Amino acid sequence: MQCSLAGMASLAIAQLGLSSCTASKEKKIEVPDLKISFQEGIPPGESLNEKLDFMESLGVVGFEPGGRGLAGRVNEIQQALKNRNISVSAICAGFGGFILAEDPAVKEEFDTTMREIVAAAGELGSTGVIMVPAFNSQQPCLPHTLDTRKYLCEQLHELGEYAVKCGTTVILEPLNRGECFYMRLVGDAAAIARDSQSEGVKCMGDFWHMQEETSDYGAFWSAGTKYLQHVHIASRGRRLMPGEDGEKDDYRNGFRALKEMGYNKFISLECGTKGERKDTVTAAVELMKAQWQEA
Ligand code: MG
Repeated sequence: MQCSLAGMASLAIAQLGLSSCTASKEKKIEVPDLKISFQEGIPPGESLNEKLDFMESLGVVGFEPGGRGLAGRVNEIQQALKNRNISVSAICAGFGGFILAEDPAVKEEFDTTMREIVAAAGELGSTGVIMVPAFNSQQPCLPHTLDTRKYLCEQLHELGEYAVKCGTTVILEPLNRGECFYMRLVGDAAAIARDSQSEGVKCMGDFWHMQEETSDYGAFWSAGTKYLQHVHIASRGRRLMPGEDGEKDDYRNGFRALKEMGYNKFISLECGTKGERKDTVTAAVELMKAQWQEA
């Protein structure tokens, strides 16, 4: 059988890089829409409503608020999102203490504040609450041993099960060796999520921190849709708006993995800007849309 041109034009097939002859036998994955999200500080605007208006004008469909004080903001956020095509994507941290703290009082502070945020995240329909188990700078910290990893997975299991009850998840964010030496690859975070044995423990990738990965494509696939719950994006030289670092800001290899995986969650901007915010943010959204098409 000849491969027909019409067959080759099929979008999903073309983007999977398969010929139409073989694709008919493969499991077809629908190419997902690009769902762009903004952290609260990204859009210009004085009030939350002004920010959301701006986001809507660009077709941004996700909103990522910080976790600090979230329980007291549930109603405000629900009201602001009413009748808009924007939903809460993820919640960015905001808890006190940290999960690997040696001091029981600091661990207790984490447990209490994190659970408050997780409950609020569930009310808001968030995909999850982003967390780092311990930054290098957070001391005193449990030693980096096998026992500590086992303890981390046990603690995350409990937290994950709580998150499931709240209708949400906890999302491990890998960083880089300068910030969190033991969890710096998407695959590291995915493996910890797997070993936590809870549907409520997931991971994410941040194009900024992913500078330590050997492949953006491989990194996202190492988590797969089973674990990959969120993505952060920034320019790749100075952590500004995508596009502000010119040719460095090529996300197509990672986007290709996300498309092939059928990733249907959000890609959220977490970055600063050196330019006029309304212009650099608009350009960033245009760049992401174009590269998503090209990937
Ligand atoms: Mg991030």
